[in-house]
Amino acid sequence: MIQLSARVRRIKPSPSMVARDRARQLQAQGRDIVDLTAGEPDFDTPAHIQEAVGKAMAAGETRYTPVNGTSALRKAIVAKLARENGVRYELNQISVGSGAKQVIYNALAATVGDGDEVIIPAPYWVSYPDMVLACDATPVVVRCGENNGFKLSADALESAITPRTRWVILNAPCNPTGAFYSEAEMRALTDVLLRHPHVALMTDDIYEHIRFDDGAPVCPAAIEPQLMDRILLVNGVSKTYAMTGFRLGYGAGPKALIAAMNTIQSQSTSCTSSLSQAAATAALEGDQSFVAEARQAYRERRDRAVALLNEIPGLSCRPPEGAFYVYPSCAGLIGKRTPSGTVLETDSDVLMYFLEHAGVAMVDGSAYGLSPYLRMSIATSLPQIEEGCRRVKEACEALR
Ligand code: PLP
Repeated sequence: MIQLSARVRRIKPSPSMVARDRARQLQAQGRDIVDLTAGEPDFDTPAHIQEAVGKAMAAGETRYTPVNGTSALRKAIVAKLARENGVRYELNQISVGSGAKQVIYNALAATVGDGDEVIIPAPYWVSYPDMVLACDATPVVVRCGENNGFKLSADALESAITPRTRWVILNAPCNPTGAFYSEAEMRALTDVLLRHPHVALMTDDIYEHIRFDDGAPVCPAAIEPQLMDRILLVNGVSKTYAMTGFRLGYGAGPKALIAAMNTIQSQSTSCTSSLSQAAATAALEGDQSFVAEARQAYRERRDRAVALLNEIPGLSCRPPEGAFYVYPSCAGLIGKRTPSGTVLETDSDVLMYFLEHAGVAMVDGSAYGLSPYLRMSIATSLPQIEEGCRRVKEACEALR
């Protein structure tokens, strides 16, 4: 038998992908499931981006590209970061990978190891702690409660820092809570980091364009230029342009870090698809009207989902500031008994009850490091959201 490594035994498959696969399996068995697990836009990729793929293919752009991405794409990224985020980078400060996910992994693989700590505010995107573990380091999870808008405070950050801290990972708008840091809140965090020169900051900005307040981006490198050589900005095209299958993300940061990330990538995937790079260039340089249209659709869905969930006994839902999820608390359901006599003890029990009894699939808050909550995706149609909430309401009313 082939022995598995200690590395893989330390980690688990992504819980959101497991939840999505479980919903799809039940659907394949003929069950009527409202699937609210999806972490990807339900819109088609805009036509001009699709066309860029055909053009690139016809132009023979079908070969390996430089490891760090084509210069056309890196130029488009540098221009985007200057235009939208107010930060200036050079071409050799950009690394392009197969999704923001790979870029984050490359950064951790290039910088952390045994004994190192990475601060992760919870609720967190499910992959951060496992990526840190896969790179032999220790995730230091800081719970950020709903009373603080699910956000990391300066005091909590200060107390979590030790001499072994290497990174803090911030994701705003956050998956799963949608929480977003105002400029003042971000400045309070960058002020803490100024006092701890051994700590670097990774910002995962993948949902930056899905904001419901229409406010300007809050970019720590622009707010505090003194931190510029300790910040890795991560972004990608998956969520903004409905391009999840293209697998294209990028990192912008200090040259030495970017070079090390490129080395890791050169020994794993080499480069991401040449066609995806052409598509991403078109996405960043082309017509941006899709971005505003998608944001408006998510806003309507968010408003509807929050209103419906808050009518359900036992659930309470804070309106998220961004991203395409809602994160209702199910504290009011814990301790209740299902019609078949099972007592709901955790959010995973609630999740399974909704799946079995109501045919509604979501992801449990425990996967995101803060319970008892449920993550419901609104990257699906309004009728699906309404049907899901109707079924959940019925299931909650059946509890004793
Ligand atoms: N970061 C966050 C917070 C996400 O939610 C996701 C996808 O769900 C990613 C990164 C991965 O993005 P990509 O498709 O660019 O790998």
